[in-house]
Amino acid sequence: KPVIAIVGRPNVGKSTIFNRIVGERISIVEDVSGVTRDRIYADGEWLGKEFNIIDTGGIDIGDEPFLEQIKQQAEIAMDEADVIIFITSGRESVTDADENVAKMLYRTKKPVLLAVNKIDNPEMRNDVFDFYSLGLGEPYPISGSHGLGLGDLLDAAIGHFPEETEEEYDDSVIKFSLIGRPNVGKSSLVNAILGEERVIVSDIAGTTRDAIDTEFVSADGTEFVMIDTAGMRKRGKVYETTEKYSVLRALRAIERSDVVLVVLDAETGIREQDKKVAGYAHEAGRGIIIVVNKWDTLEKDNSTMKKFEEDIRESFAYLSYAPIVYVSAKTKQRLNTLPDVIQRVSMSQNLRIQSAVLNDVIMDAVAMNPTPTDKGKRLKIYYATQVAIKPPTFVIFVNEPEMLHFSYSRFLENRIRDAFTFEGTPIRIIARQRK
Ligand code: GDP
Repeated sequence: KPVIAIVGRPNVGKSTIFNRIVGERISIVEDVSGVTRDRIYADGEWLGKEFNIIDTGGIDIGDEPFLEQIKQQAEIAMDEADVIIFITSGRESVTDADENVAKMLYRTKKPVLLAVNKIDNPEMRNDVFDFYSLGLGEPYPISGSHGLGLGDLLDAAIGHFPEETEEEYDDSVIKFSLIGRPNVGKSSLVNAILGEERVIVSDIAGTTRDAIDTEFVSADGTEFVMIDTAGMRKRGKVYETTEKYSVLRALRAIERSDVVLVVLDAETGIREQDKKVAGYAHEAGRGIIIVVNKWDTLEKDNSTMKKFEEDIRESFAYLSYAPIVYVSAKTKQRLNTLPDVIQRVSMSQNLRIQSAVLNDVIMDAVAMNPTPTDKGKRLKIYYATQVAIKPPTFVIFVNEPEMLHFSYSRFLENRIRDAFTFEGTPIRIIARQRK
């Protein structure tokens, strides 16, 4: 998907505009993983064109001076985005900081759209003329808080999207990536895995700038592509210093993957940061495997693995479906089991259940645990059908969709999981009113 990045100095309204553009799409996703709160990266759609949008203002640069921070944010936008939206405020005249951002943006060959925010009513439109002086063409008057002018701005943005590129790989090829916080051993795992496997094409200069793809075939002939973003970190200053920026690259890898390996570090244990990116993979509906690396560093007794698993299940409650593999990039312990697990999870992602069989399971579930009632009315389930794979998605036709609460939906999910093998994949249940 094309990427739009929002840049600009603080307080011009970047995150308001980000939220406007992303709109309800965020709030409909239940925030089980806690990733939606301070989101800086999200899916958007305009006139049927899908894109990703980044609020660079939310990228944590550390304690750099103010000007340095906005420069680095602009730098990231120029690296990552297909279209850059530069936001200024019509409530003030052009500031030095605006001019500094503009000067940075002159260097990019990418399309830059200049938006003047806080133009809350038509009388204020004359205030935008000052902004021609930034030398970035015609300013778009917008109001983030009132939702004005965003349509024209987005029309222009999607008009600059690059031609759509075909997916590079066959459907039969399983694409996976390794994500995790710095130093959990992603790069070491990448090298160790590739050391074990028969690489057919290495270091394909992929269509993306921020990952290295390597194709290999496992012993049983299954083809895989490993999408590696870990090794890219050492490229430049920004890549080292900006923690959230590496999250961005992980997110784009997640998007291209069928299966995501969430790498944890056995030596340090689970950290808050581990939960964040795993949450994105879950919300994106990808297959997920939890890989506990550096297993060699622990003094083990017969309860070590069990204790670690309990920790994981508690910290990642929403990932109860994800298999856990304990490995060591250093000693290569159990690395050879990974292709099999990845393949199984990929199969779960692609599993289709026949409606007749599915409905038997649902009706048994309802018989076992009656549907909820509200004000004397009972939720009635008429029929269920699988409407999608990757992730498997089920529509349940009911009398009152709002009555299919989270807890009952979770119960149905568990029954479906008991009946079929959905190892490592989220599944989605959507209630629809029967017409
Ligand atoms: P990344 O930031 O996630 O890519 O992590 P690296 O692959 O750069 O590894 C970080 C550090 O952990 C390096 O010093 C590695 O040598 C070390 N490391 C990686 N995997 C293992 C492992 O399985 N066991 C041990 N003992 N050390 C490891």
